[in-house]
Amino acid sequence: MKNICVYCGSSSGKGEAYLSAADALAQALVERDLGLVYGGASIGVMGELARAVMQRGGEVIGIMPEALMRREIGCDHLTELQVVESMHERKAAMAAQSDGFIALPGGMGTLEELFEILTWGQLGFHNKPVGLLNVEGYFDHLIRFLEHAVTQGLLRQQHRELLRAAQDPDVLLDNFLKEPAPLLDIWIEKQDQL
Ligand code: AMP
Repeated sequence: MKNICVYCGSSSGKGEAYLSAADALAQALVERDLGLVYGGASIGVMGELARAVMQRGGEVIGIMPEALMRREIGCDHLTELQVVESMHERKAAMAAQSDGFIALPGGMGTLEELFEILTWGQLGFHNKPVGLLNVEGYFDHLIRFLEHAVTQGLLRQQHRELLRAAQDPDVLLDNFLKEPAPLLDIWIEKQDQL
């Protein structure tokens, strides 16, 4: 495992907890010699994470669509800043250059990125691990919702299990390193498999 992609907020959130979590994740990545791949912004949890990895001597690849370079303010002093044409290209480039995916707290953009990579795993397009860093229970409702989707027969338990969660970045990364994700069969034939 060489690089971990982290999806996270372009805002900082209330209080210090989310920024501190970015810092702790940065430490855990650098200690394991794992590079960071992220969206390239200098703002919010995203910027904090990138700066924290760089300050510790780690490697950071930022990937930013041209149209967002101003709004999200491309982060200077990264190991590499890749400027791409579109959001789709950004997400594909982030996925291609990463060996695992973590979501820190964030908003719609973070959730969209997280669910896209989970969906690709569910369809058997990759078998890279995906996990939440559940800082102070930020994702509790989301986890509960996914359990609800399983009980309602709209999400397979096997697919639900593609999303790991931990409160501690060391626990999550050690889990990634020890337990490879399954490569799932692309389909889904019988209703009774739910
Ligand atoms: P947010 O979690 O909404 O603060 O956004 C985090 C990151 O996701 C930012 O870099 C956004 O540019 C990105 N983002 C926002 N909306 C989308 C979207 N629809 N698809 C992909 N990425 C997005």
